[in-house]
Amino acid sequence: MFKPKKLVWQIFPANILTILIAIIAVSWYGTTSLREFYLQETEADLEARAELIGSRVQEYLSEGMIGKLRAYCVQAGRKSGTRITVVSEDGKVLADSHENPEVMDNHRHRLEIEAAFAGGIGKSRRFSDTLEDNRIYVAIPLTVAFPQVSNNVSDNVARADINIVLRTSVSVATLDKTLTAIKFRIGMGSVAVMLFTGLITLLISRNISKPLEQMTKSAEQYSRGDFSERMLPMAKKTASLEVITLASSMDRMAELLDEKIQAIVTHRNQLETVFSSMVEAVIAIDTEERVISLNDAAAELFDVDRKAAPGRIVQQIVRNVNLQQQISHTLRNKECLVDEIIFHDRDGDRFLQTNVVTLSNGLGENVGVLVVMNDVTKLRRLENVRRDFVANVSHELRTPITSIKGYVETLLDGALDIREDAERFLQIVLRQSERLTTIIDDLLVLSRIEEDSKQEQISLEEELLLPVIASAIQTCQHKADGAGVKMAIDCPDNILVEMNATLLEQALVNLLINGITYSKKGDTVTVQGMACDDDQGKAVRIAVRDTGCGIAKKHLPRLFERFYRSDKARSRTLGGTGLGLAIVKHIAQAHNGRIEVTSVEGKGSEFTLVVKGYLQS
Ligand code: ADP
Repeated sequence: MFKPKKLVWQIFPANILTILIAIIAVSWYGTTSLREFYLQETEADLEARAELIGSRVQEYLSEGMIGKLRAYCVQAGRKSGTRITVVSEDGKVLADSHENPEVMDNHRHRLEIEAAFAGGIGKSRRFSDTLEDNRIYVAIPLTVAFPQVSNNVSDNVARADINIVLRTSVSVATLDKTLTAIKFRIGMGSVAVMLFTGLITLLISRNISKPLEQMTKSAEQYSRGDFSERMLPMAKKTASLEVITLASSMDRMAELLDEKIQAIVTHRNQLETVFSSMVEAVIAIDTEERVISLNDAAAELFDVDRKAAPGRIVQQIVRNVNLQQQISHTLRNKECLVDEIIFHDRDGDRFLQTNVVTLSNGLGENVGVLVVMNDVTKLRRLENVRRDFVANVSHELRTPITSIKGYVETLLDGALDIREDAERFLQIVLRQSERLTTIIDDLLVLSRIEEDSKQEQISLEEELLLPVIASAIQTCQHKADGAGVKMAIDCPDNILVEMNATLLEQALVNLLINGITYSKKGDTVTVQGMACDDDQGKAVRIAVRDTGCGIAKKHLPRLFERFYRSDKARSRTLGGTGLGLAIVKHIAQAHNGRIEVTSVEGKGSEFTLVVKGYLQS
């Protein structure tokens, strides 16, 4: 697989190789040209030397002074560092500066000699068998009026023009040595140039790659969402124009990205805040009916972990067939639905108003549904209470009215003439009208307290509790005596309560009457007052305790509703209206307090009013 290389390793070897090739080519061409030039120069020089000594050679030869010629050749050869050879036309060596001509080979077929005898200037570069080294030869033809060629010098010999060749030569070993030295110097220079170039290349490539590396680091930071650093200031110091342009473009891009991301994050946070703080439960669901997200209200309502919910099938979170149908319907038909479902949870039934709308992405494609649920349980319960109340009031009023109407009709039908019956019937009519009055009075009291506390017209003053309890006991004394029930007070005389004395007494009377009503003969109803610390500060608990019939647990939550009776028949027989405890509750609320009840069936009950107050020191 292709492994990417660092920039320096891409530039460095290529540069070095190019320089190496260039140096080799240049030095090869240079040395070759130099050698050729030198050789040509040497050849010209040898030719000049030959021409120079040619006349002396001709002179000696024409005079037949072979001995002198040989001595001259040796002497001139030594002085000029040149080998001088004189060859006759038959190839015989007449004189040689470096060797005894007698022992030398026939030279007729030496390249340069042949060329010279052909009339031209013979040149040759070759190995000398005689001197055993590489040499360069130049031979020129000479014509000499020569006596009979002989080794013996004789004066009386007939002269004839003969052709000879004068050959000069030098060794090229010196040249090669010089060239080798030059090559060595070129080599050394090349190494130095390469080192220098390598260093420069290294610096340049570092100069290019360093800002790029820094930019890569910054880009990695950008990819992690950190836009705090900018590339341009880092790149500016050493980088090239292209890199600086790139850095400034990247910086602009980062700035734009940063702005865009900030805007998106802010927007998302705003949405998240709205989403989280909504009272309505909201669930976003995808086309496969899986939860995309839900808000805190939904998580709380359906008792799920908000973070763990996304990805789960919606039915795992809300088990409700109706809701499931609504979601499927909206997903299928892409139309919004407003409906209501009843959701069963630990605390009982919950009424949820559902709004199911389609969810689209930025391109307008349908990506799921959004379910907004409004908990209308309280509203429905209130409606139920109101409905029940109207039904109860009608029922409670109708019973005595029907009874009165019946007896009055009976009286009109003739019963009036029978005095005994008439009196009995009229007694019943009177009792029923008293009952009607009691109900209407209680209803009026209730609505007045409700109205007054709504308009905050109930004035509260700090007063001692004991006199109020005593007064309530006194009010109920007659009833208690009639029922054979005793009453007791257990309350310090220095408890102060923030109260409306009339209303508080009314509440205590209601509780005492209930206590007396539902107790057996000989029982005692106790009113206890004590100061205590409540969550909201200093409080006073006023408990009315009896040892009567008690109330079954299931009735306790609804006991303070209007007309609610735990034992309907008994309550009616005992003359109860079912409004007494509702009045007590409203009085407690008007005192910014509350009413609590504990009761054990068959053992008795305790109703406690908790109001603001304290123990006076
Ligand atoms: P009622 O006029 O019928 O007493 P209340 O509102 O005062 O109406 O009381 C509601 C019902 O609570 C009563 O019908 C009765 O069944 C029950 N109740 C109230 N106080 C007591 C008590 N001390 N002991 C037993 N039952 C009680």
